[in-house]
Amino acid sequence: MKTDLVINGGGMVGAALALALARQGMGVALIDKQPPHISDSLDPRVSAISEGALRYLQGLGVELPQGHCQPYRQLDVADGKALCQFRASDIGAEQLGVFIENSRLQQAIWQALPETVTLIQAQARQFQHGEDGVSLTLDNGQVIAARLAIGADGAQSWLRGQAGIGLTGWDYRQRCLLVAVKTQGQLPDITWQQFTPTGPRAWLPMVDNQAVLAWYDDAATIKALEKLGPQELAQAAKGAYPAQLGDIEVIKAGSFALTRRHAQRYGQNGVWLVGDAAHTINPLAGQGVNLGFRDVQALAPLLLDAFAKGQPWWSESVLAAYERARRPHNLLMQSMMDACYKGFSNSHPLLAGLRGLAINGVAKLAPARRQVLKYAAGL
Ligand SMILES: Cc1cc2nc3c(=O)[nH]c(=O)nc-3n(C[C@H](O)[C@H](O)[C@H](O)COP(=O)(O)OP(=O)(O)OC[C@H]3O[C@@H](n4cnc5c(N)ncnc54)[C@H](O)[C@@H]3O)c2cc1C
Repeated sequence: MKTDLVINGGGMVGAALALALARQGMGVALIDKQPPHISDSLDPRVSAISEGALRYLQGLGVELPQGHCQPYRQLDVADGKALCQFRASDIGAEQLGVFIENSRLQQAIWQALPETVTLIQAQARQFQHGEDGVSLTLDNGQVIAARLAIGADGAQSWLRGQAGIGLTGWDYRQRCLLVAVKTQGQLPDITWQQFTPTGPRAWLPMVDNQAVLAWYDDAATIKALEKLGPQELAQAAKGAYPAQLGDIEVIKAGSFALTRRHAQRYGQNGVWLVGDAAHTINPLAGQGVNLGFRDVQALAPLLLDAFAKGQPWWSESVLAAYERARRPHNLLMQSMMDACYKGFSNSHPLLAGLRGLAINGVAKLAPARRQVLKYAAGL
């Protein structure tokens, strides 16, 4: 088949881009090796979707499954005795965002796709780039020809490799264990994060008396925790988290390596990158997919503007405008997360003192608090 643009990877970011472009009449083929997998019990792979990203998605016609969205209105950040509370009301917003399982948000975006999007469940096996555009040969034998290919196939992007786009980055020493738990009652709409010298600990309230614990530590500790049975893990969490969490029952747990990656170019040889295919970030502030949505917010209007004017929307100048809009911001966010990672995962007394001063300082300074909050909420 022949179409304008082919997107490899229909995760939250690739599907949002397909939606934004197809709504304005661009021909889009969206390839994913699997449909969103919705499980009966709470999946610990959840994301904090910022208010800014939510408004964008709703503007594209995405209907969020309200019964699975837990709004959060406050963010409590603690280090030792220092505590800073960020409230939605500080910036005149009703909420800072919602927590939702990744698969449920992906499904909601898929459901909003117009029929003009050709959704293909397959895996690409071959990629070719020539003067007329690109072609992808899929494992079902189908060949998709398009002007441009978008790599939205996640951190291990196959298409990025086919285009010969290199990466800079490194692995963090910490790993993150996500634990979906049942709680005794509904936790308040506050997300709580405590920094410790071995890594942050956080909980994210979820709907129906549930929560997800995010527990960062060195890889050996996290691997050992992951091997525990549900009751032993609940017991270990009780020892590591404050008493306000109450009694918990473990539903499911899984751990994730933490890697910072940044593509050396956002496009080359007929492939442009969005989302985790272009950049991954330390998840300690829950910004990863929100950066991907910002990529979409920057790229879609650039493509659509040139498309509507009959100009070559696949040209180097459009790519350069996209990269100018997004690279500095993604880099800044990666660096800010690294500063938190390095500054907080440390027991040096001088740094501990500085951290306390910084947290107390932000807590007392309303304009500074508002600035941090607006940035985090994407407003
Ligand atoms: C521990 C942890 C916690 C996190 N918490 C948050 C958070 O709170 N907030 C936040 O904003 N972000 C968070 N993130 C980051 C977030 O999960 C990612 O940024 C987000 O999933 C990226 O979305 P994506 O669509 O770019 O890629 P992905 O979600 O990886 O989607 C890629 C899609 O491509 C498909 N695919 C892959 N390869 C192929 C192929 N060869 N052919 C066809 N299809 C293919 C996959 O099936 C998938 O559907 C967290 C990450 C981690 C590790």
